[in-house]
Amino acid sequence: MNALTATSRNFKQAAKLLGLDSKLERSLLIPFREIKVECTIPKDDGSLASFVGFRVQHDNARGPMKGGIRYHPEVDPDEVNALAQLMTWKTAVANIPYGGAKGGVGCAPGELSRAELERLTRVFTQKIHDLIGIHTDVPAPDMGTNPQTMAWILDEYSKFHGYSPAVVTGKPVDLGGSLGRDAATGRGVLFATQALLAEYGKNISDQRFVIQGFGNVGSWAAQLISEAGGKVVAVSDVSGAVKNSNGLDIDKLLKHSLVNRGVKGFDGGDALDPSSLLTEDCDVLIPAALGGVINRENANDIRAKFIIEAANHPTDPEADEILSKKGVLILPDILANSGGVTVSYFEWVQNIQGFMWDEEKVNAELKTYMIKGFKDVKEMCKTHNCDLRMGAFTLGVNRVARATVLRGWEA
Ligand code: GLU
Repeated sequence: MNALTATSRNFKQAAKLLGLDSKLERSLLIPFREIKVECTIPKDDGSLASFVGFRVQHDNARGPMKGGIRYHPEVDPDEVNALAQLMTWKTAVANIPYGGAKGGVGCAPGELSRAELERLTRVFTQKIHDLIGIHTDVPAPDMGTNPQTMAWILDEYSKFHGYSPAVVTGKPVDLGGSLGRDAATGRGVLFATQALLAEYGKNISDQRFVIQGFGNVGSWAAQLISEAGGKVVAVSDVSGAVKNSNGLDIDKLLKHSLVNRGVKGFDGGDALDPSSLLTEDCDVLIPAALGGVINRENANDIRAKFIIEAANHPTDPEADEILSKKGVLILPDILANSGGVTVSYFEWVQNIQGFMWDEEKVNAELKTYMIKGFKDVKEMCKTHNCDLRMGAFTLGVNRVARATVLRGWEA
């Protein structure tokens, strides 16, 4: 299912549970602003190349719009729109004072040189610099982008507006990035998983995990879960997949993946067909890569008891229904992966205060926010007699709706 159709369907279901007025519902769904720009750069060989860039600013009722910028060949306007909308509900679930936005450039970052990526990032920033800002819209990394990308955006933006470190988060620590930001999404996944398992009298250390994706989010989640005693029995990335029913040595897998640019060929386990990873035998499945990977084609074959959505919108609504009938519990993306944007908020706060927190404080605050988010979602599940996804959606949508009405914006 198209990402925007799927996300909007979840939103509408939540709006119905909340009994939202239809005009308010419509105004919450329509994005505040959609930007589409052409970015032309000279390639290293002197030829010109053009890329299309997007920034969708979805909602700003609760504060500046916030969300990552993705570099990926499959970036398309509907997907960016869906991801921007998800950011609005995510920041509200986390209860941080932001709205939601998302950006993307349709490109294959692995096929561009560092100099080409820098030129592309600077041109994209030139095109959107007037529409982002510390109190309007604050970008961050997402798939295919990283702290270096944020450093280029910060530098280019500062040429127009003066030095403004708080205009992006997920920056290198040397430029005002927060300690702990790199690991934050994965660490948040750990805290959220612990909270969910505890409800069922279970522990990380008695569970077997399968993780799809070994990028920033998946690799940190794998590392922290295995440090907490969890057994990671299979992992995949774009290069391939590996499994070991006794548990993969994640430290060794990380080293292998750095040297070989992927998990493929790791000798601490057996090669696995990546397409069968999601249906591997395990207790907890963590999709930490692309959207829409759990759908009606494979939902019936999933063997996990818990799914923790470290990726954004990995599960189609049709799969949601199938899995719910099977009794599989899903911790939804807008709660499970909110650790990244939560520490982005800490970074922004530190920049504005001109003060740096130590990593212990960052991690402790993150834990507090994740546990509170989980509790608030559970409360909504009770109130509306719904699953965790609708608990999270009703929580987020309700907070945004209240802010919208208070500001006198309802139609
Ligand atoms: N890209 C991340 C997300 O999807 C982080 C966004 C941010 O830190 O603003 O939540």
